[in-house]
Amino acid sequence: MSTIEFKQISKVYADHTAVAPFDLTIADGEFLVLVGPSGCGKTTTLRMLSGLEMPSSGQIFIDGKEITHVEPKDRDIAMVFQNYALYPHMTVYENMAYALKLRKVDKKTIQTTVNKTAAMLDLQKLLDRYPRQLSGGQQQRVALGRAIVRKPKVFLMDEPLSNLDAKLRVQTRTELIQLHNRLNATIVYVTHDQIEAMTMGTRIVLMKDGIIQQIGTPMELYRKP
Ligand code: ADP
Ligand code: ADP
Repeated sequence: MSTIEFKQISKVYADHTAVAPFDLTIADGEFLVLVGPSGCGKTTTLRMLSGLEMPSSGQIFIDGKEITHVEPKDRDIAMVFQNYALYPHMTVYENMAYALKLRKVDKKTIQTTVNKTAAMLDLQKLLDRYPRQLSGGQQQRVALGRAIVRKPKVFLMDEPLSNLDAKLRVQTRTELIQLHNRLNATIVYVTHDQIEAMTMGTRIVLMKDGIIQQIGTPMELYRKP
């Protein structure tokens, strides 16, 4: 279970408001998409949820527990970025195993977890390769795998498909939807791409100039012009 609650969360920089105060509850298992033009406050919102950015006001709760000031590493949240940020000197296996090693998970469990995740993402044959020996789409899957092995309650994704070519983007979109169904996880996903939002989101938050304009399912938003 992982319900996320934002209460009057905002972010003000010295001379401007990046995100105006808002309330939002994200239910367990949602695929919530934050969508809007560049600079509208999507990434800032995501970074406040991850703990990489402190809000100027308000509180954030996960399952009723306040996490507003909890360290990122203690939030049970995994982030997937657009630039993958894989460790270049580690193999695919090591990239996926790394977070578990840090948490002192035993070797046998690490092997089982990494192999299971690799199978889910069709990466079994690539485990001994280095990131530079992979295509963009394969690197993207490793980045996902690295997040999945930790079994976080919540996945945050910031434009994770933006470095892929059009064909791969469509394919990975489908894979992400399937993955969401299989993992039963809560996903908060940032994109500027309306089609991506409409095809992937179970609910969509439309932002503009730091303000939430609309919230609804793709069908609800489609009906409103
Ligand atoms: P988006 O992800 O929708 O493109 P961001 O959340 O990155 O938007 O940015 C929202 C606004 O906050 C923008 O006007 C951006 O310039 C500003 N901003 C983001 N980070 C900082 C920062 N560290 N200092 C000052 N302004 C920032
Ligand atoms: P170490 O830090 O001990 O060198 P590694 O991260 O290289 O450990 O490997 C940890 C364990 O995972 C080892 O038991 C290793 O045999 C196993 N391992 C490494 N690569 C793979 C792989 N591609 N497939 C399955 N197991 C692997």
